[in-house]
Amino acid sequence: MSRFFTESLSALEPYTPGEQPQDQRYLKLNTNESPFPPSPMVAQKITKEEIDKLRLYPDPGCRGLCQAIAETCEVEPEQVMVGNGSDENLAFAFRAFCDETHGIAFPDITYGFYPVWAKLFHIPALEIPLEEDFSLNPERYYGLNRTIVIANPNAPTGLALSPEQIEGILKANPDHVVVIDEAYVDFGGESCVPLVNQYDNLLVVRTFSKSRSLAGGRLGFAIGNPQLIADLNRVKFSLNPYNINRLTLLAGEACLGDTAYFSQCVREIEKNRQWTAQRLKELGFTLTDSKANFVFAQTPRMEGKALYQALKQKGVLVRRWDQDRIANWLRISIGTDKQMRCFIDCVKEILEGTNADSGD
Ligand code: PMP
Repeated sequence: MSRFFTESLSALEPYTPGEQPQDQRYLKLNTNESPFPPSPMVAQKITKEEIDKLRLYPDPGCRGLCQAIAETCEVEPEQVMVGNGSDENLAFAFRAFCDETHGIAFPDITYGFYPVWAKLFHIPALEIPLEEDFSLNPERYYGLNRTIVIANPNAPTGLALSPEQIEGILKANPDHVVVIDEAYVDFGGESCVPLVNQYDNLLVVRTFSKSRSLAGGRLGFAIGNPQLIADLNRVKFSLNPYNINRLTLLAGEACLGDTAYFSQCVREIEKNRQWTAQRLKELGFTLTDSKANFVFAQTPRMEGKALYQALKQKGVLVRRWDQDRIANWLRISIGTDKQMRCFIDCVKEILEGTNADSGD
């Protein structure tokens, strides 16, 4: 930290993204990216003419894309706002709906960026423990008198709440915004978007990074009542009006239009998740019932950290955290069937090695 860094942020611990090695040596199952390329329609949209237009700023209102998202999600365009990844929309929401005196609540085990934004914006944060089995008890969120953010399905557990359970939280906090982060909802969760017309305190945040294979394009969107969306735009137009670049706007529209490809990719991930979970169970792992594009697993046969390191040595990257209650667990992103077979083979080799060493 330089001597110029603002004193008020000296305690800030930045978010640590999953490793992004720039060579192709690793089987990358650590950041929940899609193993499939984006829809082939993307390449058709990014023409020489569009590349020439990169000299011009993009549409700050992102109207074409908001319109397309509105049609897909069956809401009005003024209920949609797009962001540079859902991270940006989430940061805008923290900025818009919380401050030093208006706190936020989220689970103790969840997306690691929430506590970082709380610190960055000086927002008092209340971490609410998940239950012993990592499930989230909605009643713990009733009448909290602060903004709430919940990832649904949660990360890294993959466990999902039903819209009815979310509705309970919305009803019990009518004067506070409840942000539902649906980054992983397409892989088996149920979206709360149909509730936005009924609850003016509901903001749903979604992303193109996972189910639409656009993590590198950086595109997310938020859906809520028009006033909440106007609030987010108030922050955006005070910070970064041209937040989505021209190529990403085009890529987003192309992906959204290709529903057949989207469904095919999601189905394949769900199938590979089921296969992977089954193989891990056969090997003695305990898993959560993940509805996301990853599984969350631990084994009594080896410590999480040792298994993470052994996998890395074999060229397989997965994710783990040095955090109470989950230090032994690994989050494994779901890839192609070939990648998952390779992952399971590596796990088997590692566990067999452990058994041989200990003589059992
Ligand atoms: N929310 C959750 C729960 C996530 O795991 C992620 C992915 N890191 C994000 C939001 C952000 O995704 P993106 O900014 O790529 O849309």
